[in-house]
Amino acid sequence: MKLSDIRSALRDLPLSPAKRLGQNFLHDQNLARWIVDQAQITSDDYVVEIGPGLGALTRFILQKGARVLAIEKDARLANFLRMHIDDERLEILHADALKFDWRSLFAHRQVTLLANLPYNISSPLLLRLLEQPSPISLCLLMLQKEMAMRFSASPSSHDYGALTLLVQLHHRVKYLRTVPATVFFPQPDVDSAVVRISPRDSLELPARDDELLASLVRGGFSQRRKQLRKLIRTHVPDWNKVASHLHINPNARAEELSLLQWIDLANFIAPLPRPDARLTKTERFPVVDKKDRILGHASRSEVHGNNLFHRAVHILIFNEAGDVYLQQRSRWKDRHPLKWDSSAAGHVGAEENYDETAQRELKEELGVSVPLQKISKLPAAQRTDHEFIWIYRGLVSGNLVPNKCEIERGKFLSPAVVDGWTSARPEDFAPGFLECWKTYRRKMRSECSSLIQHPQIFSEANDAGSSA
Ligand code: SAM
Repeated sequence: MKLSDIRSALRDLPLSPAKRLGQNFLHDQNLARWIVDQAQITSDDYVVEIGPGLGALTRFILQKGARVLAIEKDARLANFLRMHIDDERLEILHADALKFDWRSLFAHRQVTLLANLPYNISSPLLLRLLEQPSPISLCLLMLQKEMAMRFSASPSSHDYGALTLLVQLHHRVKYLRTVPATVFFPQPDVDSAVVRISPRDSLELPARDDELLASLVRGGFSQRRKQLRKLIRTHVPDWNKVASHLHINPNARAEELSLLQWIDLANFIAPLPRPDARLTKTERFPVVDKKDRILGHASRSEVHGNNLFHRAVHILIFNEAGDVYLQQRSRWKDRHPLKWDSSAAGHVGAEENYDETAQRELKEELGVSVPLQKISKLPAAQRTDHEFIWIYRGLVSGNLVPNKCEIERGKFLSPAVVDGWTSARPEDFAPGFLECWKTYRRKMRSECSSLIQHPQIFSEANDAGSSA
């Protein structure tokens, strides 16, 4: 939008730009077009724009043919856009981006976040958005220059800090260009900059305990001028030994350590356990016929190599809010590494039945024992990796203790989010899970509809429950 258009739109609304909402409107159209071009948007993309304002970027995004969700906190601006941009691919949401449930975006295959962000929300917003797993494939952002320098900083520079490392742990950040205050109306007090933030490949950095790493980084940067040895004493009592082992200057300050050195440090303090490959090799499973009757036993590699029918369990653990826990399989798994999977799952062992396996897997993978309800049994087929699978369901009220040998990370998500994610990006999931989830959801829907059609089932069940 030209400066004269911005002035007249604000006069007509009427709206006097609010500093607390970061209302500095972009009037350089070439720059607006350039920013949108950097995101390489196609008509397959779903673009989320935070703070569309008067639509300076929105119009160029729509020209790319993408669908756009524009989240605007100021009701007058949201209404202005509704009246002035008539495009069925544009959805305008009058809401605070800090309160938006980002997980709903998992229902879209390719999500780009594009924004000229209000300065005051950029850091909390990004830390929330970039939490793992994140549905966002690319962020193209105009930020306060100082913030852009912090996100993209290198070690030993003035801007390098805890925020840099927390963002760069899962993302690559590229500083694209500085933008002078003169391209905005009203002009802000400081310059801005455009950055591109894209997710790292999951195997780009070594495995580590992200929570420990974050706590080390926060401790290390809590007093910038102090030497690291004093700030992380509780984690590393014998600093000289550790520093020499990791080739770190013993008198270093936090800002001197690269991201890889921070990861090395976390892994030295608490080495991540790796699964014992020998155990996997010697494991034996019952081999069954097409009616699930035991024929004999075979090793893991024989079973998988020859597509022999065998048995497995999948357990779906819910919390009291009704969310289901999904785990991302460890990078060291021989099958489907880094794919998202049921809360816990595993093969039925040589001397076990299905129920015993379910309880063992739950304890081994999530560190809990809770009553499990049998939900449904899937027949062995190619899409289940030739496994007969019993699906179980359980409820937890306390914390899970995910086994780091088996699980890269985990997350409770609402069933609706899992439905959206599995249909938008099935390749993110282990195939067995997709089958189990489809069956589970079908079963739940049919139970709900029979309760609606035959409410007496519900009252009978309740009566039985209260008299028991
Ligand atoms: N995109 C427009 C442009 O480039 O001209 C406006 C950018 S202006 C820097 C920031 C916009 O974010 C304003 O429209 C403001 O009302 C909106 N905004 C501020 N806080 C917000 C929040 N928490 N959630 C959503 N929008 C917000």
